[in-house]
Order: sequence, then C-alpha cells, then structure tokens
Amino acid sequence: MDGAGLPKTKSTCPYCGVGCGVILTPDGGGGMTVEGDPDHPANKGRLCSKGLALGETVSLEGRLLAPQVNGAETDWDGALELVADRFTETIAQHGPDSVAFYVSGQLLTEDYYVANKLMKGFIGSGNIDTNSRLCMASTVAGHKRAFGTDTVPGTYEDLEEADLVVLVGSNLAWCHPVLYQRLAAARKEHGTKVVVVDPRRTSTCDIADLHLKLKIGTDVALFNGLLCHLFEVGALDKEYLAHTEGFDAAIASASSDDDGETGLSDQQLSAFYRMFAGTEKVVTIFSQGVNQSSSGTDKVNSILNCHLATGRIGRPGMGPFSVTGQPNAMGGRETGGLANMLAAHLDIENVEHRAAVSEFWSAPSITETAGLKAVDMFRAVGEGKIKALWIACTNPAVSMPDAGDVASAIKSCDFVVVSDMFADTDTARLADVVLPALGWGEKDGTVTNSDRTISRQRAVLSAPGQARADWDIFSEVGRRMGWRDAFDYQSAAEIFREHAALSGITGDFGRDFDISGLSDISDSEFNALSPTRWPITAERTGGRFFDDGKFYTDNGRARFLPVRFTKPAARRAPKYPYRLNTGRVRDQWHTMTRSARALRLSRHLAEPFLQIHPADAEDLGLQPADIARVYSPLGETLLRVLVSEDAAIGAPFAPIHWTGETAPAARISEVVAGATDPFSGQPESKASVVAIEKYIPAWTAFAISTEAFRPTTRYWAQVRTDHGWRAELASDITPDDWSAYARALFDIDGEPEFVVDGSGLVRMAFYADGCLKAALFAAPDSVAVARDFAASALGQPITGLLAARPGADRPDPGPTVCSCLNVGRNQILAAIESGVDLEQVCSKTGAGTNCGSCRPEIADLIAKTQLRTAAE
Ligand code: SF4
Repeated sequence: MDGAGLPKTKSTCPYCGVGCGVILTPDGGGGMTVEGDPDHPANKGRLCSKGLALGETVSLEGRLLAPQVNGAETDWDGALELVADRFTETIAQHGPDSVAFYVSGQLLTEDYYVANKLMKGFIGSGNIDTNSRLCMASTVAGHKRAFGTDTVPGTYEDLEEADLVVLVGSNLAWCHPVLYQRLAAARKEHGTKVVVVDPRRTSTCDIADLHLKLKIGTDVALFNGLLCHLFEVGALDKEYLAHTEGFDAAIASASSDDDGETGLSDQQLSAFYRMFAGTEKVVTIFSQGVNQSSSGTDKVNSILNCHLATGRIGRPGMGPFSVTGQPNAMGGRETGGLANMLAAHLDIENVEHRAAVSEFWSAPSITETAGLKAVDMFRAVGEGKIKALWIACTNPAVSMPDAGDVASAIKSCDFVVVSDMFADTDTARLADVVLPALGWGEKDGTVTNSDRTISRQRAVLSAPGQARADWDIFSEVGRRMGWRDAFDYQSAAEIFREHAALSGITGDFGRDFDISGLSDISDSEFNALSPTRWPITAERTGGRFFDDGKFYTDNGRARFLPVRFTKPAARRAPKYPYRLNTGRVRDQWHTMTRSARALRLSRHLAEPFLQIHPADAEDLGLQPADIARVYSPLGETLLRVLVSEDAAIGAPFAPIHWTGETAPAARISEVVAGATDPFSGQPESKASVVAIEKYIPAWTAFAISTEAFRPTTRYWAQVRTDHGWRAELASDITPDDWSAYARALFDIDGEPEFVVDGSGLVRMAFYADGCLKAALFAAPDSVAVARDFAASALGQPITGLLAARPGADRPDPGPTVCSCLNVGRNQILAAIESGVDLEQVCSKTGAGTNCGSCRPEIADLIAKTQLRTAAE
C-alpha cells in the first residue's frame, strides 16, 4: 500500500529481455503509476525511460473491445466457433500442415504453452513460429550446436563481476538500458574494461575503452582471429578442453580465415586480442547485431569457441551471454514456441523426446517434423500452401523482412485470425477475424528474462470490454476443435503447473530446462511467486551452467564448431551500393503500438530517420533534414536524413519502428530481404543492399492539431504532443488552394489566419474560442519553424504563432533528450557551455537524474561540443 492506501502490485516490464521488476499502483480510474522494484534481481529498483512511461500506455484509446468478423462486431461464441470450424475444415481438407500459428515473444509463458501444445500435439503440425525468430533464433541454434541444449550459461551478476565485458552487435545503452546502467556502475566502481564491437558508433560506446568499428557481418573473422591469438599465446585452458571436442578442426578453420576482412587495423585487432587473452574474467554479451545475419549461428559459435577454449564459461564474471530482445523470448524457447523445437527444450527429431511429450499430453498426433520458420511460413502463406493462419500479439505486416510481400501474403490467405489489443495495426487490418486480447497490466502469468529468471506479470487492471487472455482464447478453440479435456484450463497457475511438470521429463533425459520443483505450486504460491532463476528442482535452484564441464550433447562434451567468415547473403552491386543496418531507438518499442501512446517517449525521436556518414551524404548530395529515398529490389522507403559520423561509411542505419499508422512511407522492412541463416532461419536484417537518392518533394510541411489527423501525402510521420498531434509532411503535388487543403487535412471548418512570406513559407492557423486548434507551415524547401514551441501552443490562447518562432519569454527547448523530465537538446547545449562535466550538466538541467537512459546521449553531446570547441 502507498501513503494514500492504494494497493501496490509487483509485476514485470513487458518490453526488453532484461525483465525488470516493476511496482504498479493503480489509480482506480484505469491508470497506474509505475516504479522500479528494488527487490527484483534484474534491476534492483532501476527502470529505463520505457519502463517508467508504462503508466502512460494503458489507456483504452484504440483498444479492441469485442471480437470482429469481417469488420463487424460479434460475440465470442460466434467468433470462436468460426475459428474452430475453419481450422478444423482446413485440416480435414488439406492436412495439418495447411494451418499455422505465428506468435510472439510478448506472449506470456502460459499463452505460449497452450498455443504450442495445440499446434504440435493436437493439430499435429510443427507450424508454430514466433517473432523471436527475428530476435534470437541464431543464438538458440548456436547454443544447441555447442552445448547440446539452448542454455544461457551465466547470470546478470557476471556483468558486475567481470573485469572485461565485450559487447558484440549490442547497443546495450538503448536496447537493454538497465543492464547498461548496471555495467556502467560496475565500471565506475571497479574499473571494468569495456570493448564494443559494432560497425557504427552507438551510445554504448560512451563507456567503451575500445570501439572496434568492424565491417558489417565480419564478426566470425574477428573471433576466429581471436581464437588463433589465444592458441598462439598459450591462453587455452587445457584442462577444460578435455571436456570438449572439435578444437583441432575449429582452430584449423580459424587459421584459414583472415581477420583483415574486418577492416580493423592490426593495432586495433591486437589491442582487443591482448585484452581478451590477458583477462580471466571476461563476459561477451551479444545481441541482434550477431543474431540477425545470414551467418548468425556461425557468429554465435565463433564467440562460444573462444570462451570454451579458455574455459571461461559458467564461472563468476565470465561466459558468453546472449541478451534477448523481447520480454519472454526465453519463455517461448522453454515452451517450444519455435517451429523447430519441442516443449521444454526437447527435440522434435528425437523419437524418445516426442514419445515422452506425447504421453504427457495424451496427444493424439504429435508432430514428427519441424514446422516452417517465420520467413518460410509467410512464403508458404503467399503460395497458398497455408490456408488458415492465426497471428497472436505481433505485427508481421510491418516487422517481417520483405514486409510488402508479407502483407500481400496475409491478405491473400483464405482465413486469417489476429488476436491483439488493437484492431488498427497493419496486420489486424488484413484479418478476417480479430479477437480482443488482454494487454500488459491486465494479464496474469510468467515471463523468463535473459538470465533465466522467471518472474510474474500480474493483472492490476480489469479486462477491458470483452478482452480475454491469449491462453484462454487458444484453449477455447482447442476445446471447440474437439480436445475438451486437454485444454480445460481455468487459470494461468494451472497451466504453469503443467508446464513445470512437463519440464521434469527433461530432467529425466538429463537436459537443462527443469523447473519441476514448481510443479506442485498452489494457486496462492503462484500468486506470490518471487523472481526465481531456473533450473528449479529438488536438488538445485538457479546458478550457472558448465563450470563442471558437463554438457548436454550425446557424449557430454561441448562442441567446437569449425566456422569460416562468409559475406552477407545479399551482394552489393553497382545499382545497390549501400548496406542498410537496422535497429531500435531508445524510447520506442517494436512497431510502437504501445510505446507511441506515451507522450514522453514520442518526444525523443519524433520522426523515422536515416543515419548516414558525412562522406556518403556528400556523395549523394544529401544535407541534414533532407528526405532520402532508400530503395532495394523489394520496395522503397522515405526517411529524414541525419548526417552523423557515428554511421559507418557505406552502411547507413535506420530504425525499425515506424508503421502504416505512424509513417507509412517509412516501413523499413519494405526494403529488407528475407535472406536467412541456414541453421537458425533468422533473417538478415542488418545488411540489406540498397540504393539511396535524395527525394525532392514539391513542398514540405509541419502540421499540428488538437485532434488526430491522417495526412495523405507521399511522406508523413506523426506523433502525439502534450496537447494533440504533430506531423511532418512532404508531397509531390502543390495544392491550388492552401486553405482548402488545410481544412481537409484537419477536417476543420472556418477560415485560417493566413500568411505567405517572401520566401514562399505558407503559414496558417485555425483558432476556436481564441485558442489554437491547428496550424500548418508549408514551404517548397525545408520549413523553418520552432516545432516544439508551435506544438506546445496547441489549445493555448496564443498570439504570434505565425511568426513561427518562440517569444523571448518562451525559449525553444529543442528536441527532447531526457524523456522523464522533458529536457530538450537546446537546454542541454546551453548547460554544456557553462560546465562540461556530465554530472554538472545533469544536475544543472535535471536531465539524466531520473532513469538515466539519456545519460549516454548527454555524454555524447558534451564530447561533441568539446571536439568542436577544440577544433575552433
Ligand atoms: Fe523494461 Fe527498460 Fe527494464 Fe527493458 S531495461 S525491461 S525496457 S525497464
């Protein structure tokens, strides 16, 4: 209870794989406040900007509140009967492999468990895959090749106990901010050395002792070079090697590689090799920069090879460590949510494993073969081989590579079900049946984070409208398809107990994932369950794996993999000379269906962008704030140009988040090809070949309104503001009548205040009752207007707006850097002039003093200002 007597509930953040504990205090009106849980082992009270803004994302605006069939509201009975009938008919006519589920790392473990059981055990197909395929499938494949199972050996504490942390393809500062904060604090306390391996300079580099700006996709060449160095300098752990096999082949393979392929200098390479060889306690963190590659699995194994060779695995402060992008990617792996996995880390291709799971479930037709992985699944949908598709809690029409074709495939499918919180996503708009699902704060169950800690997500808000839990929806369809007893679940606790009991089978097979110690947990114990790291058995709870040299392969030894560097699948050609790197921004999550609702998160980066090196920008004739047309053989996208030396030459970067709802021309997956890793099936999302040219519109504009509006221009990007909405626009066609255009855009009556100045800048403002209702600033070239000032004027009795700049009493704070305290770039730059120390700037402006997510960005601004000053 807080001071006002409101009940507080512990739960887990639904965003990244750090899995931070949160304390929720509902306000009784459908909202809540969110604070970090000091008792949660993942975050110990810390939260990043996204976690702190969770309370702003739970409104019912835009929520799907009732089932819909072909766009018309219906009741659950009718919708579920239709879903069950269509799946049953399709299976009867075309066989079990004619249907598929595509699910999500956002689902809870209990949701995953039921969906997987239904597809693999009862429908009898392996065709259930998950958006985690885009996230960490290469790690799963790499772990299984080396360890025999998909086991994360270490724990978060290892980051703090290490003397050297190597971050490979991981912008920890933006993508796993609380882990970054833990590492930064450890570095301050005992001088942990940090190496960042990344083709571009990211905010994470602010704490790097060494940044290896290698060429895109050359990680295997780097780690093969490291393995050779470890061999040459006698840094191998011969005793530990006795627990492994395949070293000779691995070193022979590594010796054939050339670390010069990385583009790094000999000095950089040997500095890294020396640091690694000379430091016992090394943790190598790797993430999507490794996984999202056509050679992602080999990259993972090249890292694991180095840790196995030195025996630096499973001991405090050392080991390879995959950090997952999604909150329950690990729970999905545990329940078999990937098409090529059985439940509980067992193998589909193993007849004994299949028999054991089949018996446990009393399953009539357990699948004997792996199903289609995500990219192949949507290709099969497009080819008409999959005729009934159920997409749960994810937005593949935006997030899958070759998104245009994926959207067409979904549209062409005979029968598509989407269960989601919203009906207006790019994917849900293509569905025949849309089912309202509970969202975070409303649902109840468990998630597993990157270091194997199982935590509870708890419901604190009542179910809106007719929304139901995903496990409940899948169970109900299972019952209606004829398997009443197998899916007669009444609660998440009941499913969790079954999941835990099933994992006891893996213990019998001598496998890693065993939480059978929780199989008898009562409902009240489940409700009170504290974060607990697996395994959880009568013999042990938590801890690390592989210190004892025992692995889950047939002979109990770890396997070295002989891997060689291979270039990214798509080859650069004169027509497509650039490699496009993609990733996340600090304050948005996936396709923004939730995070875009939080005002403070929308302030950070209001527009999709192309971060491009100055040399490339000069070649292309691009200036900052131009719009670039980025195109590949698959499609095109339009992005605002952000010129920065942080980008690699020849390899610009663009974020993944924008969709048809927020910036239709900036759906980045339209240009990303579906080339995949041969072992993991994970798509190569960070090395697409593209061409870039300047897009020259007839006019550009900045528009604001107190009401939501939907532009129809070729380019637009819209976000919320404190008092309404703001958008950037660009179009090929100049309106004949600007007033009429603005009235149509804002769906507003009346004549605007209207000014056209000598430079051709058109300025219009609509007022109602003396307060600003909407405004449009348009120009043939770029629009010079103090945007934050203009947006802050919405709904206000303001004068002088059409001067398009703030008055002396309202200085423009600039784009937001600190989302928590709403501190802008201009305010921070002003503070830097009078004090160059990070702590001084933070204390003067307040920025970075709450969650700390923006501190790397502030440090970056300080460093760049110092550089500029030194050069002057
Ligand atoms: Fe959520 Fe941020 Fe923690 Fe990730 S680091 S779980 S986004 S609070």
